[in-house]
Amino acid sequence: MGRRHLGKRDAKDIARERIDGLFALAEQEVHKGSAERSKRYVSLALRIGERHKVRTGYKRTYCPECHSFFAPPINVRVRTGRGSISMTCLACGHISRYPLVQKRR
Ligand SMILES: [Zn+2]
Repeated sequence: MGRRHLGKRDAKDIARERIDGLFALAEQEVHKGSAERSKRYVSLALRIGERHKVRTGYKRTYCPECHSFFAPPINVRVRTGRGSISMTCLACGHISRYPLVQKRR
């Protein structure tokens, strides 16, 4: 086993991996009907992201208000309007609006 130097970069990579894993779990829990457990996973992922200053890249996949993981049509109503998309959280009623712009890299 080679020893890997754990620099700042690697810590961020690990954080990102954890966040990915937590969001995947959150999605599974929604489908299983465990809304509360799902929220906990999202909250945890967000906390890790904050601590490591890592962008989660999951901005539109959860409710910013109650941290429900959005799994349409189970717990979110998605409407696309002219140039924007609105997501209504069915758990707390919060409406998030985002512009419909393709992200380019
Ligand atoms: Zn909500």
